Amino acid sequence: MVKCRFAPSPTGHMHVGGVRTALFNWLFARSQGGKMVLRIEDTDTERSTRESEEQIINSLRWCGLDWDEGPDVGGPHGPYRQSERTEAGIYNKIAEQLIKSGHAYYAIYRADDPRTVISTSTECPQLEKGYTFTVKFKVPEASNITFNDLLKGEMSFSSDAFDDFVIIKSNGFPTYNFAVVVDDYMMEITHVLRGEDHLSNTPKQIMIYEALGWKTPQFMHIPLILGYDRSPLSKRHGHTSVDHFRREGYLSKALMNYLALLGWSVDQEIFDYREKLQDFSPSTISNKAVIFDYEKLEWVNGKHLRMLDIDEL
Ligand code: GLU
Repeated sequence: MVKCRFAPSPTGHMHVGGVRTALFNWLFARSQGGKMVLRIEDTDTERSTRESEEQIINSLRWCGLDWDEGPDVGGPHGPYRQSERTEAGIYNKIAEQLIKSGHAYYAIYRADDPRTVISTSTECPQLEKGYTFTVKFKVPEASNITFNDLLKGEMSFSSDAFDDFVIIKSNGFPTYNFAVVVDDYMMEITHVLRGEDHLSNTPKQIMIYEALGWKTPQFMHIPLILGYDRSPLSKRHGHTSVDHFRREGYLSKALMNYLALLGWSVDQEIFDYREKLQDFSPSTISNKAVIFDYEKLEWVNGKHLRMLDIDEL
């Protein structure tokens, strides 16, 4: 069974790019009769907030995107939260497994110089005050990392391009690349659709899957949404938060219609994404960069507004 996930970091507003990623995952899962997971990636303890998490969830609901499972918190399908999974010791247990099998080690630092490793160990260090440690993944030498991206085709990297990297930080929290592998595996995610800004992380994640002897999911890296000057869409180009469009009275149907068109070729200009499920497949997604055009969004919104039944207002 196909299982996709949307895995936002709750460090700010829900960006239109985030919703488009959520939408493509949702369309893929639903078009295959599969499941959808929402996972809050709140391992950056300094930047993650509950307020941002709530906004993300409200934006997803407003956009009509739902999910199927999660621990029983915050409603019937509360999202998974990596902070809670850290507390439950899930990532530590797998890190220890990697240390035992020789794929990771403890790196010890002086607390005032967290860049210089002073020694390494395969036993959990008992440290004096003023010292700290992380767990690092040992990158295999001269090995070839390949995967078949559903959009970009065969991708190949050499492990020599990567240094050993941290998987458990000195505060005990996992890093993104480690937590994402553990969770995607444990949550039985079959397809990972995400922005191509993560492409350089994928080889690191594949090395971890391989060290653990776990099967990798299928990856599909989607071109980013750009502004008029072809740099990644940001506040410089105009409003980018979903909440802005909601407050300004845009119809969620119109915003979703417009976002769906950013990369997905549909033989219709005005539609409700829920009614086009059967048309979704990776081969209908473009590998070209897409530009967010505020005027086109206005036009789509106007069309939907004119189609509205008075009862819907
Ligand atoms: N938390 C990551 C982000 O918000 C998720 C990346 C992924 O989908 O693997 O960019």
